[in-house]
Amino acid sequence: MNDAGRNAMQFRDPARAAQMASLLERLVGEIGREPVSVMHVCGSHEQAIARFGLRAIFPRALEVIMGPGCPVCVTDMPEVDEAVALAEDGIRIATYGDMLRVPGTARSLADAQAAGAKVDVVYSVTQAQQLAAKLDEELVFFASGFETTAVATAAVLLGSPPPNFSILSAHKYIPPVMEIVAEMPHTRVEGFLAAGHAATITGCAIFERFVERHRIPVVVAGFEPLDILAGLAKLLELVRDRRPEVANMYPRCVTREGNRRAQEVLWKVFRPVGGRWRGIAHVPNGNLRLRDEFARFDARRRFKIDVSRLWDYAPPSLAHSCICGDIMAGIASPSSCSLFGKQCEPDNPVGACMVSTEGTCRIWHQYGGQLDLRDKDERA
Ligand code: SF4
Repeated sequence: MNDAGRNAMQFRDPARAAQMASLLERLVGEIGREPVSVMHVCGSHEQAIARFGLRAIFPRALEVIMGPGCPVCVTDMPEVDEAVALAEDGIRIATYGDMLRVPGTARSLADAQAAGAKVDVVYSVTQAQQLAAKLDEELVFFASGFETTAVATAAVLLGSPPPNFSILSAHKYIPPVMEIVAEMPHTRVEGFLAAGHAATITGCAIFERFVERHRIPVVVAGFEPLDILAGLAKLLELVRDRRPEVANMYPRCVTREGNRRAQEVLWKVFRPVGGRWRGIAHVPNGNLRLRDEFARFDARRRFKIDVSRLWDYAPPSLAHSCICGDIMAGIASPSSCSLFGKQCEPDNPVGACMVSTEGTCRIWHQYGGQLDLRDKDERA
């Protein structure tokens, strides 16, 4: 095993995990009411929770809700429509694999590809740029992801991208959506577990104003099992003590200020604008769009994108029954959706939460339809 493997194993020690589980049980008991509901806003947290079976050791009275933390799931239909319209107009599109099957109003990029459009799957913006450099035609990178991946997109634009390369940005910025969730009338969220990788860029100080405004604690946590358990323990302590504070439980990667150089790169290229997140709401400052200085790389300004023709021919859809928005807001779970595992499955997704490996419905489906591994009697 190499050093990286050994390092990871330190954070997967079953004996310490069992101790942490007892600590969670004690803290929930000290809070003295149930359920205690907290939310994480990161698909990678949900993946780790499911992969390591952590819900089986969470106290029954602790509800860990998955919020709007999957960038693919929150890419709005009109954004997908823009990519589909460009592809159908003969422009070559490159994007991440998960984005292919995200349903637009009428079609997905995979549908367009099946009908002959040129759509390439890439693993990074750098790979998309390299592909463009080999081509003598326009290539648009349909860019999704939160601030972590937006930094990579920005860095490429600050380099010397080829002239035939442009960006259709569906990048999103996490902090503003936490405001929306905190203000939802039926929200049960008493604390947030924030994503360690995004905070590596932004720094944990970014949450201080949020905490001041909403009086809800935020704990930054990493992605190994003990990181998540320790993050939850700290969050429960803060809830118990009614201390609305920001705590950094991922100090091996996250600092208060974050990565200043990455922030500079991000904000030099992008500006935050209001826009819809699929199923959630209009999120003020939640979308990242290219600044005027980078207009020549902005596919929205470089091409005339006519999405209205897609809307005219939108087939009847089951999408109106999709409750992704309620799931990401923490007020419903996939099992409440009448389409889950029936009309909506990973091979035939109705909503975006079933598409991405970071989507709640997809993760629930992958792990057998429910995320608590205890049998029903034990859960009762
Ligand atoms: Fe939407 Fe499918 Fe999830 Fe139902 S199961 S909420 S239709 S993604």
